[in-house]
Order: sequence, then structure tokens, then C-alpha cells
Amino acid sequence: MNADIPVPARDTIAELVGYHSPQVDVAVRLNTNESPYEPPAAFLERWADSIRTAEWNRYPDRGADELRSRLGSLYGRRGAQIVCGNGSNEVLQAIFLAHGGPGRRALTFAPSYALHDLIGRTTGTEMVTCERASDFSFDRAAAQLAIERDAPHITFLTTPNNPTGMVESRETVEWLADIVPGLLVIDAAYAEFAQWDPIDLVDEGRPIVVTRTYSKVWSLAGLRLGYAVGPTWLVDQLSQVLLPYHLSTAVQLGGILALDFAEEMASRVAQLTAQRDRLFDALAADGRVSVWPSSSNFILFRPAADGHRVWERLLERGVLVRDCSSWDRLAGCLRVTVGTQQENDAFLAALDGVLDSLGFADGGSNPNR
Ligand code: PMP
Repeated sequence: MNADIPVPARDTIAELVGYHSPQVDVAVRLNTNESPYEPPAAFLERWADSIRTAEWNRYPDRGADELRSRLGSLYGRRGAQIVCGNGSNEVLQAIFLAHGGPGRRALTFAPSYALHDLIGRTTGTEMVTCERASDFSFDRAAAQLAIERDAPHITFLTTPNNPTGMVESRETVEWLADIVPGLLVIDAAYAEFAQWDPIDLVDEGRPIVVTRTYSKVWSLAGLRLGYAVGPTWLVDQLSQVLLPYHLSTAVQLGGILALDFAEEMASRVAQLTAQRDRLFDALAADGRVSVWPSSSNFILFRPAADGHRVWERLLERGVLVRDCSSWDRLAGCLRVTVGTQQENDAFLAALDGVLDSLGFADGGSNPNR
């Protein structure tokens, strides 16, 4: 116990190490998987207009009905199958509040998104882990054993997975859905960058819920809006644990208006996936790094040189990536978010320079440089 703290938090909280991703002000920020593009100017204008005329003396629409019904239409669903939160993290927290908690267990497939574990433990849920295979692919045999051993109340599958970038097949997800004893949460924060959408699997009779976010493709990480698509009974359970009026009027208005710009967003996704493939090819052609395939807007790679040193040297050159080098099973790894063409070029040039400076010559193997 820390003697300087007059009133300690309950044990589970005091023991937690918070989520930490350094926010450094540099020219090229490729560390948190945001969109490199600003939202369309016309969106910002219309949003500002709607904010000016909103009834600010009134509480927001408690059920966020218009937003949910518009999101529902996007997927051929009803608004009653959608629940919104301040970022998909809040939706994940609501899932833990409703289905986790003391005496309940949740399973994750590691390595994956650290916040599942952190939010789970904050809610007093017992967190259990099943390791992915050595190439980070989903290991069915290990999953089967873990599910039999732990009988989890909640199972989390992130696809495309963060930080590895790899997507699971529909067949794998359906296989998993058939064997979990409780709720299956599919965290699909990056689904727009992949080849298929797990929302297709949502059905009233199935305990599957898919979480999504405005933070990536909608260029609105600053808005803090996420949502889940699931059966109505689950949406009702999650709505029960969210605070009344939790979603501000500004967030609801922004979320609704953004959907009018779906075409612009689709073209941004196309640009980013093209850039991702270019970045992947450049890294794969470089004999000094190992790289994992990505169906997302980021790429995991491991430089031959010490990962943390490479991260520091990149930062000195004005390029911030995510340092995963000390994470479990990711020794030496870094993760780069796909940016604009200029940002990606700056990253590749900086990486080349850093590896050269650390004594790893490229040997001219990479045609992209
Ligand atoms: N899930 C995954 C897998 C993520 O990577 C992230 C963001 N890093 C989130 C959820 C949270 O997104 P949001 O901004 O909607 O809270």
C-alpha cells in the first residue's frame, strides 16, 4: 500500500496498471490507429450548425433513438439491436457490468487488445487467457481446452486483432460461437479494413454481440462514440447498466450526421487499405524486419535491432509508432498505424535511417526505398 495515499482504492483497483500510450507532439503520429484524415469540412459545418440550434437546456435523447435507428439502417438492422457508448470502450465496460463482475469469468485470446483485460479487472471480473499459436493465429485446440476448463461467462474475440492485425475467418468465428457457454463478444473496431463483417452473424437467437467504433474510419476519435450490434435482449441488458443520459447531445448529433458522409468514408478506407498494402510490401521486402499480415489500419513488425531503441530513434526523427517491445510475447515488436502516403514515406525513410545507424544495412533488397 502507498503510504502517501490517505484513502486507498479497493484492492482490485489499486493493483491495476493503467492503460498507457504516450501522446507525444511530433510531426508523424502513427501510434494509436487513428485516421490520418480530418473529417470532411461539410460534416464539421453541418455539425456546428446543429450544435448552435440544439436545446442545450434540455437533457439529451436518453435512448439515442435517432442515432440508433440510423446505425441500424446501415446494417439492415433495427435501432433496438444497437447500443451506443462514449467510445466502444464504454460499450465493452457495459458488457462487463452486465455479464461480468465478481464470481464471473471472461476469456481473451492473447496477445490482443489490453483494455479487455483492464476493463474486466476494474469490474471485478476474473480474467482468463488462452494463448494464440506461435504465429498469432487462432488456435482452435487451445481455445476448446480453455473453454472447457474455464466455462467463461464472456468470451472476447478481436478481429481484426489488435496488435497483430490478423483477421479471423467467418468459419472460425462461427465455430467459436457454437462452443462458448456464455456471451461471445466480437470486438470489430477495425472491421471496415477487413474482408468480411461479423455483424452478419448477429441474430436474436444467438448470444453474439459485435462492437464497433467511430474512432477509426469515421475520422472521429475525438468524438468518443462506439456502439454494439446484438440481439435486443442483450441491448436491453446493456442499456440498463449505462448511466442515464450518458451520450451527450453533441455526440449524438455528430454520430448521426457522420452517417451522411458514408461515401467519403468508404473512399478513405480504400485509400488506407491501399497504403497498408504498400507499407506491408515495403516492410516485407526489407530483410531487417519481420512483419505480420494485416487486415487492419496498422501493421505489427519486429526490427532486427532492439525494438525499444528503434522506437526511440524513430521518435528522434519525428516519427511516433507504438512500442510493444515489452509486451507479453511481443518482445522487440513495434506497431505502425497506416497514415497518409507522405506519413508512410516518412516512416519508411526514418526506419531505414535508424536501422542503418544501428549497423543494419539494407543491402538494397527493398525496391520500395
Ligand atoms: N477495440 C479495439 C480492438 C481497439 O483497438 C480500440 C482502440 N484502440 C478500441 C476497441 C476502443 O475504441 P474506442 O475509441 O471506440 O473506445
